[in-house]
Amino acid sequence: MSAFTPRPNGTVSDLARDLAARMGDAPALVIPDFARGGHELRLDFAALDARIDVLAAGLIALGIDRGEHVALWAGNVADWVPLEFALARIGAVLVTVNTALQRDEVAYVLRQSGAVAVLHTSGTGSNDASAVLDEVLGDPAQGLERVRRRVWLPATPDEATPTGLQLDAAGARGELTSVDAMIAQGRSIPPAELAAREAACRPDDVVNIQYTSGTTGFPKGVMLSHANLMSSAWELGEQIRLTPADRICLMVPLFHCFGCVVAVLGSYSYGAGLYVLPGFDARNALNLIDAEQCTVVHGVPTMFSAMLAHPERDQFDTRSLRTGLMAGAPCPVPLMRAVIDELHCEGMCIAYGLTEAAPGVAGTNPEDDLAVRCGSIGRSLPGVSVRVVDPHSRIDVPAGGEGELWVAGPNVMVGYHDDPAASALAIVDGGWLRTGDLARQDDQGLLHIVGRAKDIIIRGGENIAPAEIESVLREHPDVVDVAVVGVSHEFFGEEVAGAVVLKQGALLAPRSYADLLEGRVAAFKVPKLWKHFEAFPLTGSGKVQKFRLREMMDGAVHLE
Ligand code: AMP
Repeated sequence: MSAFTPRPNGTVSDLARDLAARMGDAPALVIPDFARGGHELRLDFAALDARIDVLAAGLIALGIDRGEHVALWAGNVADWVPLEFALARIGAVLVTVNTALQRDEVAYVLRQSGAVAVLHTSGTGSNDASAVLDEVLGDPAQGLERVRRRVWLPATPDEATPTGLQLDAAGARGELTSVDAMIAQGRSIPPAELAAREAACRPDDVVNIQYTSGTTGFPKGVMLSHANLMSSAWELGEQIRLTPADRICLMVPLFHCFGCVVAVLGSYSYGAGLYVLPGFDARNALNLIDAEQCTVVHGVPTMFSAMLAHPERDQFDTRSLRTGLMAGAPCPVPLMRAVIDELHCEGMCIAYGLTEAAPGVAGTNPEDDLAVRCGSIGRSLPGVSVRVVDPHSRIDVPAGGEGELWVAGPNVMVGYHDDPAASALAIVDGGWLRTGDLARQDDQGLLHIVGRAKDIIIRGGENIAPAEIESVLREHPDVVDVAVVGVSHEFFGEEVAGAVVLKQGALLAPRSYADLLEGRVAAFKVPKLWKHFEAFPLTGSGKVQKFRLREMMDGAVHLE
């Protein structure tokens, strides 16, 4: 099949239009129904574009204006991809919401993003999404009065509409309507109104706000433009030589940039079809690849490990696989080799990126030597510049040295939503994005990720990794949990501080902790300030919020 080339400087919506016009009957979006066999959804590009149009008209009828923010809190359901395009088509901004978020985090994302509507399924992950939204939208203390509309999406085609659902889209703030009712209201929207909305979209408009994970700070809303997304999607697709003949097995969640950008926009930029797992399951992934003869598979390392370890793996034939991207976390060499040898995905590649870079930064090609593809994150993508910089002095490290990876290019985010201070820290020196990852570039220009700078204390110019100190302190008989953070210091810039949760009845004993560290870590790394906590502040996924701990170190005891 001939290559499909999207128009240069096109918007996300233009991509769907062009695909419908030029290859309307090619497979676009397939969601299998594993419970019953067969398909839950099978759309070609013409049908996808038609679905985008009716959803777009419905969103206009719902009262969504150009530039307004709309949250989507759902797993990989049938309308996720059409809604991604429909919101782009009407000039609105899609706020992607992680399905694992808990009540307070969802409230935070809805509030921080300034969302005016939320589209959601009854449940997301382990959440009763409807109940969570009833609670937070009904609580005036949450400050969510901007959320004017709620739209219920079925998780499967035959899911019954929840009882008590208001089907009138013109209701009051926070009132729930169904996607079918929204579409019915949209029939009153003149096609010219939708066309005018679509024509007003510009490549530099923000089209998505995607939230970071929030381990080193509150989740931040990454604002990405059409141009950011389209350039990253195009380069990552080119990286693995996609064509319209490819069938992509998508295992990752659509709310993450790996799903909605790399997989969706990356595949469509080359006219390739998407075969979507409703949620990750190793057996279903193997089954889907076999049944649909998928040629490409994208996933994070743990997904590939689960597929390789599945007891029924040999029952499925995965030899149709040609290539794919493993990304999102360090990709171990033995795992890459096993995917190539045992899943028969000969051209498997690694990509590296982060949400703030829309996300593509670097990757390998299927033609690269095995050693390159298994042992590095490859070279920077065309159009993307990288530097390896000493995070303290902000000077490039000598060739071959380790430092923070900085990135510049058309993929770098517009900034963090409503957080100019964080944006100014992240994008420096006229457009360089600080990734927070530590990297090394070898003499062949290949990049290697060696750690994370995001959790580093810099004391008087010395870099200190808290993880190293914490692992020793966990051996102390009185210590239940420990977190080492940097607190600001007049002379050193930062001083090392230890926060501990102690066994019941135990008393804070800084000298005893320092004695344990002696001889195991350098003296300058030993925390000089100590404080006892009943419990640490945690993110919804149970990770310590170090940025908050730092602010809570007042009254800490000095090591004598
Ligand atoms: P996110 O913004 O959720 O996509 O997370 C981005 C982070 O994932 C990066 O800053 C890295 O720490 C990590 N990451 C992504 N891809 C890779 C990779 N191929 N190797 C190592 N770490 C990766």
